[in-house]
Amino acid sequence: MNSTPKKTVFKNAAAIVTCDARDRVLRNADILIEGPQISAIGPDVDTRGADVINAANCFIYPGLINTHHHFFQMFVRNLLTVDYPNMQVLDWLNEIYPIFKRIDTDCVYYASLAAMADLLKHGCTTAFDHHYCFPSHTEIELVDQQFEAASQLGMRFHAGRGTNTLPMSQGSTVPDEMCETTDGFLADCERLIDTFHDSAPFSMGQIVVSPCQPINCFRETFVESLALARDKGVRLHTHLGEGENSAMEERWGMRTLAWCQDIDFVGEDVWYAHGWELTPAEYRVMAETGTGLSHCPAPAVLGGFTIIDMPAMQKSGMRLSLGVDGSATNDGSNPLDTLRMAFLMQCFHGKSRGGSPTPYEILKMATRGGADILGRQDLGCLEAGRAADLFMIQTDKMEYAGAVHDPANFLARVGVTGPVDLTMVNGRVVYRDGAFDGMDQAAMFAAAEKVCNRVIRRNNPAYGK
Ligand SMILES: [Zn+2]
Repeated sequence: MNSTPKKTVFKNAAAIVTCDARDRVLRNADILIEGPQISAIGPDVDTRGADVINAANCFIYPGLINTHHHFFQMFVRNLLTVDYPNMQVLDWLNEIYPIFKRIDTDCVYYASLAAMADLLKHGCTTAFDHHYCFPSHTEIELVDQQFEAASQLGMRFHAGRGTNTLPMSQGSTVPDEMCETTDGFLADCERLIDTFHDSAPFSMGQIVVSPCQPINCFRETFVESLALARDKGVRLHTHLGEGENSAMEERWGMRTLAWCQDIDFVGEDVWYAHGWELTPAEYRVMAETGTGLSHCPAPAVLGGFTIIDMPAMQKSGMRLSLGVDGSATNDGSNPLDTLRMAFLMQCFHGKSRGGSPTPYEILKMATRGGADILGRQDLGCLEAGRAADLFMIQTDKMEYAGAVHDPANFLARVGVTGPVDLTMVNGRVVYRDGAFDGMDQAAMFAAAEKVCNRVIRRNNPAYGK
């Protein structure tokens, strides 16, 4: 694997699931890529002069777009002492925040590498991360470390600069060492936007102003986030409807969505994570204002929350995308697994709710839906003019015999959740046959484990050390 070739062709793919407006699945077709974009797709592409990737017996899909994560949580995975499924939320927070408080710059860098490696290996080409952990002992340039990791792996990266500002004495659940001032937060958002935000087509980096959640922030943090984001033309994100509504009603006399609507933290440039507590009346508010929702199946199941009513949300006109969520509430960052889980969860209520979405409809949420919510007209499907972001799965393997006749529904229906065979981002093959371009995985693993031992595991009874 080398740097971006001038022209590359995926030759003779058994199927290309385009996820385009016509839902086309092309058989025995090629994709020609020039620079960062697809220049032609179909059965009769002129492939002269192009580097050839043999796609015989392969299915090709648009790259998955993950719209909610917390990379920094990667080093607190697989800990039964912070047992999210079996703990009350407050007890769980009391266990997890003392661990979060330990993170430092190296942790953020290596945790981001680990998270993005997991995403790329499983077909994700664009990652949004919501980073809200800025302990007072560490420097402020943590999002910069994430951009460094993204660039090393070749991932398209949208960084949510998060924060919590409300001290515990005023009702927050976040330790004071992890709280920031609204002014400090906004100044860093502005610095990050000026340094990293690129709104041009095929952009590899954008900034999203993302205060963590209304219950743990001052109102002014949200009001001023909105003013900054709209002034700079960037998007907004937060958590909503994940169990906080009764506390919001107690504090503000209104539910979280009404609180957000009251300050205009709604609109086509806004999306929320979760929405487990949304009511049908609130679906209409979301739809009318164009506000998006990132559905994260794993934390909903692990935390025992309601399974969202996707058909009713779709019927109302809500914009939906998918996220794996952070590793404190989903120990894996596998978006193919998330597709599968979202599909199975919807089937659980399918008969009583008048049907569940097809696996292909859920795939479209993870591709076109994600692109729409991030405001990326250049991503989300495979057609000429769009970015060359895709993944490929070789299907002539014993385990797929009998299952390959329907490429559009193949992934979530069959449960194809293992590493893909190839991932391309912006016209560059960044992952192929188990290897990342230009990266020594064993050396990176050793370096990351060293940081985890030094910062997180040391003197920490949760790890038995
Ligand atoms: Zn989250």
